[in-house]
Amino acid sequence: MMLEDEDYLDAICHVIRTETVNAEYAAAITGDNFAAMFAGMEDDYMRARAADVKDISARLIRILSGQDEAELAAAEPSIIVADDLSPSETVQMDKSKILAFVTVHGSTNSHTAILARMMSIPALIGVPLDLNEIGTGMTAIVDGDAGEVIFEPTEAECGEAQKKIESEREKLRLLGELRGKANETRDGRKINIYANIGSVSDVGYVLENDAGGIGLFRSEFLYLGRDDFPSEEEQFAAYRQVVQMMGQKKVVIRTLDIGADKQADYFALGKEDNPAMGYRAIRICLKQPEIFKTQLRALLRAAAYGNLSVMYPMITSAEEVRQIYAIVGEVEQELKAAGVPYRMPEQGIMIETPAAVMISDELAEMVEFFSIGTNDLTQYTLAIDRQNQKLDDFYNPHHPAILRMIQMVVDNAHKCGKWVGICGELGADTALTEAFVDMGVDELSVAPPMVLKVREKVRAM
Ligand code: PEP
Ligand code: MG
Repeated sequence: MMLEDEDYLDAICHVIRTETVNAEYAAAITGDNFAAMFAGMEDDYMRARAADVKDISARLIRILSGQDEAELAAAEPSIIVADDLSPSETVQMDKSKILAFVTVHGSTNSHTAILARMMSIPALIGVPLDLNEIGTGMTAIVDGDAGEVIFEPTEAECGEAQKKIESEREKLRLLGELRGKANETRDGRKINIYANIGSVSDVGYVLENDAGGIGLFRSEFLYLGRDDFPSEEEQFAAYRQVVQMMGQKKVVIRTLDIGADKQADYFALGKEDNPAMGYRAIRICLKQPEIFKTQLRALLRAAAYGNLSVMYPMITSAEEVRQIYAIVGEVEQELKAAGVPYRMPEQGIMIETPAAVMISDELAEMVEFFSIGTNDLTQYTLAIDRQNQKLDDFYNPHHPAILRMIQMVVDNAHKCGKWVGICGELGADTALTEAFVDMGVDELSVAPPMVLKVREKVRAM
């Protein structure tokens, strides 16, 4: 779009004509001018566009001067340093080539950070860096635990890092001994520990870490990093593969939760002033049921192949659940009429809005399980945009309001004989594992690399 922008093109042509310079030079000057203009703007969003202009100009200059694109496919495993990374950019990367992420912007509660945690990739978010000083091919040490990056480290620093890597490996080896062991406290109380995934290939991490099931498959990641909707067949193949790989183990697939930071251009969601409180998740599915029905058909068909449950995100009312059931009912009738094999899966909802917490007694009668999304529940309860880096210090999922809400949801579910899990990042917080078991939480669904750490905690209780 930028390269079709008349102002940008006119400016380049003008520099070529008036200064009689070559196109590369004109593109460089124009890029600098536009970037400076954006950088001087009041609005945070517009200011951040300076990096886009620089990026486009750099690519244009590279092409004009006949330099090759950096061969990413052939690149060795690397640390990615970027101004920012969107979830759609992150899901497209070849994970085997990423050693770590370092970004100047972004929040630790964003889906890019969540993706990194899921894949066990050290990630530093919101690091104040001058990207002009960092070049491809530099050496760096990224320490995710300490939140530190060192560029061009000394030999002594490399030695230190190597020691830390080895001690981390040893810790992982010890944790590995917990594979195959029960998630049981010393006095015999049990809790299920499942894992969160974003794609079919993540099932490898789930099995490697011996999770008891999948408590959250963020299906919207199948919709990101592409030009058009995934077809019913494509989705069916993905969901079936996951349930087949998991054998008898439970796989909870969350329906499309697109919107907010998870954007795909072809949805044409438009710009919103408050995207986190905007047109997202189940709201899109209820307003555009044709998108929802395609996914539901794929889910009901895949359910015939294993232990699949379906979960609906961002619920705020009983009426939404009734509307969902009406659409699911239509899909079921259509499959039946067409003679397509399917099975009705277990159906539950995410509890991630304060409204859903407050009416969880009523909702518990309507659904088969709850899964508490503490990431959004914290955002909506504390009125803190989880994407806003400036608020990371205020984002406190240990707030008593959140903990009391969890207890309330568990009690209301159990009164109706329903199970409750936690699938937000808080589920993996081992400082609270004991509290969750005490509250009666039935399941914790965590990033795969956290499964054995949580198990270790439970077994020590
Ligand atoms: C949550 O909100 O806690 C959750 C699990 O969903 P997501 O992080 O994808 O919004
Ligand atoms: Mg959520």
